[in-house]
Amino acid sequence: MSSPAPVLRPWRRLAFTFEPESCSEYDVVEAIGSDRWCDLLRQVVELRGPKCEFCADDEEVALYRLWSYDDARGIRTLVDVELLCTMCAVARTPENAPGKLTPALGFHVLGHYCRINDIGAQDVFDDIDYAFAELELRNTIEWISDLGFFGRDHE
Ligand SMILES: [Zn+2]
Repeated sequence: MSSPAPVLRPWRRLAFTFEPESCSEYDVVEAIGSDRWCDLLRQVVELRGPKCEFCADDEEVALYRLWSYDDARGIRTLVDVELLCTMCAVARTPENAPGKLTPALGFHVLGHYCRINDIGAQDVFDDIDYAFAELELRNTIEWISDLGFFGRDHE
């Protein structure tokens, strides 16, 4: 019997986080195993409900990874998973876009991001500037991915 997924919730704000280039080929589902990923999805739905954790949309929700980046050590750790709708998932990490991130989808996501965070356009632009500055720094690092809790065997 598996123990339940951790409920760590380190960041409650929906914030842009771009994935560093050196992480782009890393496949969490493959690393954890698709059976275990499906178990995790079932546990998260049971614990948190079958809806988006940010906007409560209950259509097209999926499980997404939440990483913590240790810039000094070059290690990113999988600290949590989130059940998100497509709009919140793309706002969290643009790489989550289903297919190509078009200008129309980007515009829609920015509006959604404003509503979820209850902020205005200038705050969004500040967040984007911050996310790009963070990405520029993180693209200079060859990241090691640590699965954290999710990499341990809990059978
Ligand atoms: Zn949502």
